Amino acid sequence: MALKGPKRYAIMPHRKTAPSTTDTSNDIILAPASSFTELGLDERVLRGIRDLGFEAPTPIQAKSLPYTLGGFDLVGQAQTGTGKTAAFLITIFQRLLKNPRKQGPLPRALIISPTRELTLQIEKEARDLGAHTGFSFAAVLGGIDYHRQAESLRSGTDIVVGTPGRLIDYLKQRTLKTDGIEILVIDEADRLLDMGFIKDLRFILKNLPPFNARQTLLFSATINFRVIEATYHYMKIPVEVSATPQTVVVDEVTHELVHIEHRKKFRFLLGLMEKIRGERALIFANTKSGVMMIKERLTENGFSASALTGDILQRKRIKLLERFMKGEITVLIATDVASRGLHIDDVGWIILYDLPQNAEDYVHRIGRTARAGKRGVAVSLVSEQDVYNIEPIEKLIGEKISYRIASDDELSPERESEKRAKKTQHPKKWGKGRDSRR
Ligand code: ADP
Ligand code: MG
Repeated sequence: MALKGPKRYAIMPHRKTAPSTTDTSNDIILAPASSFTELGLDERVLRGIRDLGFEAPTPIQAKSLPYTLGGFDLVGQAQTGTGKTAAFLITIFQRLLKNPRKQGPLPRALIISPTRELTLQIEKEARDLGAHTGFSFAAVLGGIDYHRQAESLRSGTDIVVGTPGRLIDYLKQRTLKTDGIEILVIDEADRLLDMGFIKDLRFILKNLPPFNARQTLLFSATINFRVIEATYHYMKIPVEVSATPQTVVVDEVTHELVHIEHRKKFRFLLGLMEKIRGERALIFANTKSGVMMIKERLTENGFSASALTGDILQRKRIKLLERFMKGEITVLIATDVASRGLHIDDVGWIILYDLPQNAEDYVHRIGRTARAGKRGVAVSLVSEQDVYNIEPIEKLIGEKISYRIASDDELSPERESEKRAKKTQHPKKWGKGRDSRR
């Protein structure tokens, strides 16, 4: 297919969703790919795709690959669990295989991800999918292996995946040299370009070759105008591809809001846990202290559960997640460190003990279930403290979430330890003081 030029859109503040690839008002429209073979991919890339058992491209792959393989910058939005990782990895492999290396042994591709866990997961998928490409990979993330990671960067890695903090660290020391970067991917771009990360991102972007000397790709399930605006200075005018313009939440996830008084929440959770006993469940709370509180109380009530927050040592975080993925741990309670991007097979239940304050986080939390076409259930506990968060969520996902009022039959009596009974008498001791979100 001949490429005449990019499909360019003026960036208009009033446009909420990206136009579809069938939009006729633009100078070039590339048809979605119906198979991997028609994309002209290198045999080494195709072999990786076959190894993983991918038969046909997912909608976001079908729509974005014709552009990304053509060298265009792109902002891609598609629901959680629909194969965005492979979309950018295939692009990277193909580009690097096609173009001869210009610099010495320097990294040629950089993928930035917001969490350490997601970084490791992307690195793993890159190794699997890229097994026949001969490229070398490095994951760069905080909390572990400072010297080992530095060593692998020094020894000349082709593709680097990392979280912003550690990347900056190595950049400042010149351990990570960016002169050879030909392609940059920002995964979970809206998270990385929001308030918490934008300064770090700017620092990294300033240290890369200029945007017109590289290809830049952004992906997320929740892309908004702010994201596009933030990247304006850092990428060529991007093609915007949205695989699912109408819905942000996949159809396979059944999600409901259960209205319940705050003080009854835990007993409701206990009731639910009894019902789903043995199935894999991921419980989200808004704060670290909330996570620890739920873990303690579940344990006291005979449920083995583990907690995953940003406070926990990185090695332990990795172990926990591995054990959860293998099914050795069935109940994991987490802050939003676990809401972005992680692909865990067969998480049947997602329980939102609190509604997130950031509407996008709702989409990402419930997106941990019903991945790659499977089905899942998400239940959100909504108390008088959460109700104000409903409206922005419904606005973002463009639909009303079905709701019901919890009945007292659904509550289970709670066994309380002596220590807690005392604390309950002095409830202020719980959650006292300032609490950072993760
Ligand atoms: P997200 O869109 O949320 O980033 P992932 O990239 O994590 O989703 O993909 C979710 C799952 O789908 C992964 O297990 C991945 O290996 C699988 N997958 C990706 N592309 C395909 C494909 N073309 N066919 C089948 N499975 C795929
Ligand atoms: Mg992803």
